[in-house]
Amino acid sequence: MASKTPVGFIGLGNMGNPMAKNLMKHGYPLIIYDVFPDACKEFQDAGEQVVSSPADVAEKADRIITMLPTSINAIEAYSGANGILKKVKKGSLLIDSSTIDPAVSKELAKEVEKMGAVFMDAPVSGGVGAARSGNLTFMVGGVEDEFAAAQELLGCMGSNVVYCGAVGTGQAAKICNNMLLAISMIGTAEAMNLGIRLGLDPKLLAKILNMSSGRCWSSDTYNPVPGVMDGVPSANNYQGGFGATLMAKDLGLAQDSATSTKSPILLGSQAHQIYRMMCAKGYSKKDFSSVFQFLREEESF
Ligand code: NAD
Repeated sequence: MASKTPVGFIGLGNMGNPMAKNLMKHGYPLIIYDVFPDACKEFQDAGEQVVSSPADVAEKADRIITMLPTSINAIEAYSGANGILKKVKKGSLLIDSSTIDPAVSKELAKEVEKMGAVFMDAPVSGGVGAARSGNLTFMVGGVEDEFAAAQELLGCMGSNVVYCGAVGTGQAAKICNNMLLAISMIGTAEAMNLGIRLGLDPKLLAKILNMSSGRCWSSDTYNPVPGVMDGVPSANNYQGGFGATLMAKDLGLAQDSATSTKSPILLGSQAHQIYRMMCAKGYSKKDFSSVFQFLREEESF
C-alpha cells in the first residue's frame, strides 16, 4: 500500500470530499487543492499534502482528479494563470469528474494533448451517499487505451466504471441521466404532494409507490418528503446532497445539447425552468429534492 504514487485531487466539496477519502482508504497519498481552504483542512489534519494551486498539484502528481461545480471552474483549474496546464508533466493522466459541457471537455482534451498528457471526462452518478460508500457510477470518455489506467483509480470510488467512447461522451451520458433524474424528482414530488393533500400518510404512500410502477430512484432511495426516509437531504432540511443550482446547471447543459442536436426535450425544458425558478426564489443552496418544499409552498396555486 505504501508504495502507491500520489494522486492529485482538486475540488473537495460535497462529492470530492468523500471520493478523495475513498482513495485514501485504498492507500493512495493525496495532493490536495481547493479554492476554499476550509475544504482542505480535514485532509491536512489526516496528513495529506495541501498545496496552493492546481499547477502545484500537477507538479507533484502525475494522476489528477478534478471534481468542480461548472465548466468555468474546470477551465480555471486547467487553463487559468495557476492552472494544471502550467506545470503538467508529460504522460500525466488528468481525469475530470465534474459535470460540464461536453464541448468544454473536448477543448480541454486538446490543450492537454498538446502538453503530451492524457485527458478523460468521467462524470459520476449516485450522489453523496454513493460517493461515501464508494458506489458511484463513472461514465468515461477518452482514448480507449487509457481506460484501464483510469479504471484503477475510479474503481476505488465507484462500483460501475463504464467506457462510453471518445472524449465528451461521458458528459453526454451524464447530461441525459440528470435530465431524467430532474424529471423523475419533480414527478415524485408532485405525486407525493398530491397524495398528502388527498389525506394519505407520506410513508405509506412512498411504500405503495415503491412496490408499484411509479417506483424510481427519487421515490425509493432519495425520497423528497421529510420524515419518509433517514439519511437523505429531505431528513436534514435539504442540506448537503446535490444543490438545486447544480441541477439547474445540468439542465442548462441538456438544453444547449438539445438545441445543437435539434432534439425535442419538452419535459427537460420544463424541468430547467422549474429549477431556475427555485434558484431565484431562495432554493439555490438546498438539495434538488427541495422541489417538494417548493411545491408545498405553492398553497394557493
Ligand atoms: P460542491 O460545490 O459541493 O464542491 C465543489 C468544490 O470545488 C468546492 O469545494 C469549491 O470550493 C471547489 N472549487 C470551485 N472552483 C474551484 C477551482 N477553480 N479550483 C479548485 N477548487 C474549486 O459541488 P459537488 O456537489 O461536489 O459537485 C461537483 C460536481 O459533481 C458538479 O459538477 C456536480 O454537477 C457533480 N455531481 C454532483 C453530485 C451531488 O450529488 N452533489 C452528484 C453527481 C455529480
